[in-house]
Amino acid sequence: MATDSISFASRLLDWQAEHGRSGLPWQNTQDPYRVWLSEIMLQQTQVSTVKAYYAKFLERCPTVAHLAAADHDEVMALWAGLGYYTRARNLHACAKAVVALHGGHFPSMAEQLQTLPGIGRSTAAAIASFCFGERVAILDGNVKRVLARVFAFEHDIALAKNDKLLWQMATDLLPTKNLSVQMPRYTQAIMDLGATVCTPKQPDCVACPMQSFCQAKAQSRVHELPLKVKNQTQQSIAVAASRKTTRRRGIVRAAASAGGVGGLVLFAAV
Ligand code: SF4
Repeated sequence: MATDSISFASRLLDWQAEHGRSGLPWQNTQDPYRVWLSEIMLQQTQVSTVKAYYAKFLERCPTVAHLAAADHDEVMALWAGLGYYTRARNLHACAKAVVALHGGHFPSMAEQLQTLPGIGRSTAAAIASFCFGERVAILDGNVKRVLARVFAFEHDIALAKNDKLLWQMATDLLPTKNLSVQMPRYTQAIMDLGATVCTPKQPDCVACPMQSFCQAKAQSRVHELPLKVKNQTQQSIAVAASRKTTRRRGIVRAAASAGGVGGLVLFAAV
């Protein structure tokens, strides 16, 4: 790896202190219930949408015990409109498990958190790093994109088989000292960088703290990375299918304009 982890982490931390997001309702807390709730809601949902749901949930269920005791239909009603309803079902199941198996306290280690319903590796790492300062990496789509660009990652980030390398890179870059202070800030920083600077379509490289490290920028490949061959393959199939359909229509039209029902026969034969 061309960039050493200390430089990467310290640049990111310095940048976050000055330019990162602050004042989001789920920031500045080390309450795992609140962090967990926000992390689940933010999966596949915009920050602006989540804010109102987050406030509504906390008003009705201020603790994990309240959520565990809530009626299933009420939980689903609170979630209505957020979409991806498996999240709501898992949320309720997880709250019940925290109460039943852990006395109403979320476990402090990512490895234990991952055993709970609906908590994957990255979400577990977010909770453990934000709330307990554990040195564990998150790896959501935003972080994958940042890493793929900074290190000119030459593998398809859409393929699960390449995740192992990305997890290793993300872990190697984590702060190594004063973890209880630095890990929550670092996790927030890498989330903020992916969400506000190194965005999918219009990354703001001029404002980026990684611009002097970034291999994608140095190689003028910012818009080429990350590689998503899987998606490109799907797009190629779609384009090929579309061309084939257009060709069929052309043949059908030609046959129809020549008169008779031959077009139907031709259409079926293409
Ligand atoms: S320099 Fe540009 S491409 Fe590289 S990490 Fe920063 S915003 Fe992303």
